[in-house]
Amino acid sequence: GCGICVKRCPFGAIAIIGLPEELTEDKIVHSYGKNRFRLYGLVVPRDGVVGILGPNGVGKSTILSILSGNLIPNLNNLEEEPSYDKVIKYFSGTELQKYFKDLKDGKIKPVYKPQYVDMLPKVVKGTVGELLKKVDEKGMFEEVVEVLELKNVLNRSLDKLSGGELQRVAIAGACLRDGTIYYFDEPTSWLDIRQRFNCARLIRRLSEKKKVVVVEHDLIVLDYLSDLVHIVYGVPSAYGVVSHPKSTRVGINAYLEGYLKDENIRFRKEPVLFERRPPMDYRERPLLLEYSDIVKTLGDFNLRVEGGSIYRGEVIGILGPNGIGKTTFVKILAGEIKCDEGQVSMGDLRISYKPQYISIEYDGTVEEYLRSIGNIDSSFYKSEIIKPLGIDRIMDFYIEDLSGGELQRVAIASALMRDADIYLIDEPSAFLDVEQRLAVSKIIRRIGEEKEAGVFVVDHDILFQDYISDRFMVFSGEAGVYGRGSAPLDKRTGANMFLKEMGITFRRDPDTGRPRVNKEGSQMDRYQKEIGEYYYID
Ligand code: ADP
Ligand code: ADP
Ligand code: MG
Ligand code: MG
Repeated sequence: GCGICVKRCPFGAIAIIGLPEELTEDKIVHSYGKNRFRLYGLVVPRDGVVGILGPNGVGKSTILSILSGNLIPNLNNLEEEPSYDKVIKYFSGTELQKYFKDLKDGKIKPVYKPQYVDMLPKVVKGTVGELLKKVDEKGMFEEVVEVLELKNVLNRSLDKLSGGELQRVAIAGACLRDGTIYYFDEPTSWLDIRQRFNCARLIRRLSEKKKVVVVEHDLIVLDYLSDLVHIVYGVPSAYGVVSHPKSTRVGINAYLEGYLKDENIRFRKEPVLFERRPPMDYRERPLLLEYSDIVKTLGDFNLRVEGGSIYRGEVIGILGPNGIGKTTFVKILAGEIKCDEGQVSMGDLRISYKPQYISIEYDGTVEEYLRSIGNIDSSFYKSEIIKPLGIDRIMDFYIEDLSGGELQRVAIASALMRDADIYLIDEPSAFLDVEQRLAVSKIIRRIGEEKEAGVFVVDHDILFQDYISDRFMVFSGEAGVYGRGSAPLDKRTGANMFLKEMGITFRRDPDTGRPRVNKEGSQMDRYQKEIGEYYYID
């Protein structure tokens, strides 16, 4: 056990203090079988956007399957066939009674964007253009294709698309349908920052006339999108409990705090704090590495990065859309690619690199693999890396059997356990749930400080980047054609430059200090754009 549970449970990082007493068996909305996963409670769709947040394995997708009519909940009655009549009776006197009645009578037309878009090519044949034209029930084809940057792939068949392209096709397909209520399960996976906000804007516009429910791990996007949020907490794979609806601000703050006041539930031992500390004054630190202007041409693609430096203990966040050379720059630092012009002299600096695309060639278990890299029995690694990343629970798994999220966590752990002066971490938050992202951000900061190393991190989750970074490098350009990278800029200058390019403004939450995106066209948004301060003005 992890020590904080009343009931014994094997799940350390995200376990809660027992199951609340009022959660009796009759509160189970769905169970996947005897001693299998149980879902307590459900979400009520409302006008606007209802956001759902919580770690993996607590039933978020199950909720969407139920509400979208893909799964009739069995109310924990495993003997009889589930039916809507039983469900309607079960929810009698609540808003969900009418919802399920309308669903049964076909008065609700749900539209559903599933979590796993990689299944799409198996069920749908033809080109992107044909598919989207077929589902265009509102005559919005041109507009949606434009916003989601799908012009260049219209003639391509679905099985020839990347993850990010498939995701945008799936979102486009959902938005084009004329439904009464829309469900989006993890819409931003695979998307870069610009695409995340384009997609968020599209969903918000949809919500002006229709009800929308969204599951999302990127807290900045979720915050921007939602009018209300539900937190789902529990023990992954065992049970999940849906919180009462909360205003987005209060709900996300409670999530970061790890404590639900209404329900009196603590689901994480430590809160995540956004200190309003000034970023580290790097000039007081020893210089670690200086590099000159860099030029690199790869096929038709040209990259130029302004020269710069990194100091000991410093974390530099790299921001920018996809296809403009962020990974290429990191590979040049890692010594995997030689630049055409310029110099990066690492001397005897040791480097540890977590590539964007992970493949670990290792015949053995996670434990054996990590043992070959560092001392996994050290209490520092145990408490700072292994446990917070939930790797203690997958120690016996074979490396070749790991899922995307598990592989990502093992790769992050192994990169950070290596002794190095410079850590290069390319897209760590991909495949991770919100809880794991918060854990990784804490670990990266700790390692930088503890080892007095320099860290470069590429990532599209801006809450994550804002939390860990001392300075920002901003990349811009045209995907596949050219990329321009800035020198590391002080946080305000870098963030300002980047947010301006994205067309969004930030304010701070007064209670937690966390960044929030101003609603487009709000007074703050217009004012900050007018004075050219896209980053916080307080
Ligand atoms: P989330 O979306 O929060 O990650 P899911 O709703 O996908 O969670 O799954 C919750 C739990 O239910 C998981 O432990 C998963 O293994 C289990 N589960 C999901 N679908 C099924 C199914 N069809 N049969 C049995 N178990 C399932
Ligand atoms: P980012 O990390 O910003 O998404 P990358 O550095 O991975 O971008 O790639 C930048 C561009 O360089 C992409 O358009 C990619 O297609 C191109 N590219 C990367 N490697 C090669 C290569 N070996 N040959 C030709 N083009 C390449
Ligand atoms: Mg899910
Ligand atoms: Mg990349």
